[in-house]
Amino acid sequence: MDHFNYHGGILHAEDVSIPEIAATVGTPFYVYSAATLRRHFQVFDEALAGLDHLVCYAMKANSNLAVVKLLGEMGAGMDVVSAGEYLRAKAAGIPGERIVFSGVGKTREEMRIALEGGIRQFNLESEPEMLALSQVATSLGVVAPVTIRVNPDVDAKTHEKIATGKSDNKFGIPIGRARAAYAETAAQPGLKVVGIDVHIGSQLTDLAPYRAAYEKVAELTRSLRADGHEISRLDLGGGLGIPYEQSNAVPPLPMDYGAVVRETVGDLGCEIEIEPGRLIAGNAGLMIARVIYVKQGAERKFLILDAAMNDLVRPAMYEAHHDIVPVAEPPAGAAQERYDIVGPVCESGDTFAKGRSLPAFAADDLVAFRSAGAYGAVMASEYNSRPLIPEVLVDGDRFAVVRARPSYEEMLARDTVPDWL
Ligand SMILES: *Cc1c(COP(=O)(O)O)cnc(C)c1O
Repeated sequence: MDHFNYHGGILHAEDVSIPEIAATVGTPFYVYSAATLRRHFQVFDEALAGLDHLVCYAMKANSNLAVVKLLGEMGAGMDVVSAGEYLRAKAAGIPGERIVFSGVGKTREEMRIALEGGIRQFNLESEPEMLALSQVATSLGVVAPVTIRVNPDVDAKTHEKIATGKSDNKFGIPIGRARAAYAETAAQPGLKVVGIDVHIGSQLTDLAPYRAAYEKVAELTRSLRADGHEISRLDLGGGLGIPYEQSNAVPPLPMDYGAVVRETVGDLGCEIEIEPGRLIAGNAGLMIARVIYVKQGAERKFLILDAAMNDLVRPAMYEAHHDIVPVAEPPAGAAQERYDIVGPVCESGDTFAKGRSLPAFAADDLVAFRSAGAYGAVMASEYNSRPLIPEVLVDGDRFAVVRARPSYEEMLARDTVPDWL
């Protein structure tokens, strides 16, 4: 559910009309709905009601400071995967004891920054990383709370680029090696074992892989406790999918996911952490673009937009579908055209959709990409020297630019030419 609807024939973000924002910030831009973000966080929080739990929003989905602050004020913890995200969380006022540090290649510098600033736990992903963290913690005179991310070898049945729980992925320690890894971790002077971590992938549309993975985690909890480890936290990762196509089957609801958590690990007396990203931010954002030209090719009709793959890379990178709708509501029964919807970048991969049936568009019309709040702005680049597009947050009838569009001068000023040229 989101808060992007037509009122009086014009698409709105909550109570603010999209053309009004476009007139203020120009196109293209991202717009987020505060009410949707809040609702999605609450849905997860309620799905785990009755369990001792912390919802750690996976910041990599959308790490804008305003988004992080809004969720933090609702009580969210954060799952970070870099020192940059850690520092964003801190800048947004998230206390260290609510920040979990994930990721397969944390550097010593990143470990130091998090240990000095305060951290809830590191999720370790390899034996060499474990040894490095122990050394860094010891050198700072502290003990780092850790879990080990285990790779349960289950097939998440999602796009191969976002599946992370199979034994041939780079993530985690094979679950068969977990007891040895825990024994080694417990022996390190700079580390304290607090739990187990697992994350099997993103955009999951089926609960069965979760059930399979969490059953293995429950079994491992019992073995590790028998080995004498204190397992008091289970970090169950993120990855619950969202509906990208309104016409398609709906992915499982957080409530049903919560039931799987309860049934598999609910009786272990552990604090439960979950790390949803996409489900919180995905349907809380639109990308708005303007039609530059309608071009008739030899066989196909192209809608050429002012947004491109550098602004929203998911279609090019994951063959992802985004619903694309006109900002001006078409009259009922309006004639449909078939369009290839593309950006101006010099690559055929710069295609958002092929043969999409939509009401007829003309130059200057505004279009909205739905479900663009997660893995949209954060994955943008300045490819083709196109400045990053702005982000706007709406809350009821007010809106604010939460990241401004850099000017061309600002973009150029980041390069320097050596004086010997
Ligand atoms: C990407 C990631 C998440 C979030 O995944 P979503 O699909 O956005 O929910 C959570 N935890 C870890 C470790 C991740 O890498």
